[in-house]
Amino acid sequence: MNVYDSEQILQRLQTIGYRQCDSPDKADLIVLNTCAIREKAEQKVYSFLGRQAKRKQHRPELLVAVGGCVAQQEGRRLLERIPHLDLVFGTHAVGRLAGHVERIRKNGGRIVDVDMDGGGAIFDGLEPLDAPSGPSRFVTIMQGCDNFCTYCVVPYVRGREVSRPPSQILSEIRALAGSGVREVTLLGQNVNSYGAKEGYGSFADLLKKVSGIDGLARIRFTTSHPKDLSDELIDCFAALDRLCRHIHLPVQSGSDRVLKRMNRRYRRADYLDKVGRLRSVCPDIGITSDFIVGFPGESDEDFADTIDLMRSVQFDGVFAFQYSDRPSAPASGFAGKIDDTVKKRRLAELLDLQETITLCKNRALVGSVQQVMAEGPSKKNYFQEAHRTALWTGRTPQNRIVHFALDTPTHGGGMMAPGTILNVRIEEAFSHSLRGTPEIERPNQHGRKGVDSHAA
Ligand code: SAH
Ligand code: SF4
Repeated sequence: MNVYDSEQILQRLQTIGYRQCDSPDKADLIVLNTCAIREKAEQKVYSFLGRQAKRKQHRPELLVAVGGCVAQQEGRRLLERIPHLDLVFGTHAVGRLAGHVERIRKNGGRIVDVDMDGGGAIFDGLEPLDAPSGPSRFVTIMQGCDNFCTYCVVPYVRGREVSRPPSQILSEIRALAGSGVREVTLLGQNVNSYGAKEGYGSFADLLKKVSGIDGLARIRFTTSHPKDLSDELIDCFAALDRLCRHIHLPVQSGSDRVLKRMNRRYRRADYLDKVGRLRSVCPDIGITSDFIVGFPGESDEDFADTIDLMRSVQFDGVFAFQYSDRPSAPASGFAGKIDDTVKKRRLAELLDLQETITLCKNRALVGSVQQVMAEGPSKKNYFQEAHRTALWTGRTPQNRIVHFALDTPTHGGGMMAPGTILNVRIEEAFSHSLRGTPEIERPNQHGRKGVDSHAA
């Protein structure tokens, strides 16, 4: 979501003549887009801003702006705390950013804008970037959240849930597909409740419309709240070819007692039931999740329930976090805070178990052929010269990362168009990625050589 918001910020600033540059030392304006989800992210904001004081001393004309969730949460307090800060713009103020920057440039002064629109105005003027970077793009379909999980700051800093009209979403995706984008990820805090308040039809309806857009090869979405995962949406994994067989379904805890205190509004059994239904409709679906360890009051037994749930689900990957107090979220006032050392130990145990599970699942794929969308040359391009190969990176529909070697003499010097989909035979498995070799190209049924670049 922050990547998407940063693109929007850049797009707005381009309208008043700014361009992105590759070093803050060359910048006339530094914009920091911030996250408030955990305390650590927030601390980084202050250390980054502290470091800008020197820059501004050398070049007083430099402007420094802060946007995103920390800006929304702290507002004027940020200006008071950071004397060299010029502008604070909240999560609903991106559309007004360019005007604020121009005003400061012309008249000087400092501006704080943390007004919340409280309606669909937040989507006005949302536009894709002029020059798409790479074959995959994010597209926001809703903002805010109405769920009020007790640990979470999102409803307070992003406001109430608002869905974007389907016509706007579809025209943005058509424009992206027209400019060469092959994969879109639809974004919302809980896409499963898309359009419910506005009467736009269900999220499954929207997916069906998106999957009819010419030129798109792959569709993904994130995030799904388990309580709102409908059978209609589950069925889409079987019915829509272009919908990638992957769902990120954050469970947070395997203990009913903790889930209740988190206000997640599902029980462990409900979650397991939905996982079962997903796998019966789509046996090779990749399922990933988020966990919080050390939520206030989490006992050893509660944590054992979480470990037990992980063993029974066998996730394809997880993100796990130590619980972090967020002052505006209710859990910050809950009794039974867990010691840091206990949180660390639980996190390590959970991640260790997941590493074993992922490695085992990845090993089971050795010898199989996976459809991989090429994203670009791999950062691990180490054996290129010696083996006359170029190492590329891509993803399977299940979102597994695959590194694959292109034989430079037969593959145009190791180059190919990002977004091409290849059949890759998997030869080696690691805990966070796979390695393989593209299958020899054969003419397909249309007599053309190469891989079918339209099927996910
Ligand atoms: N809307 C999404 C997630 C948003 S936040 C959802 O409901 O799934 C992303 C993840 O950050 C959450 O899933 C949760 O695991 C984690 N998180 C949120 N607040 C947190 C907190 N106070 N401490 C630790 N982790 C937190
Ligand atoms: Fe936060 Fe819960 Fe909303 Fe996700 S669903 S953004 S965790 S309040």
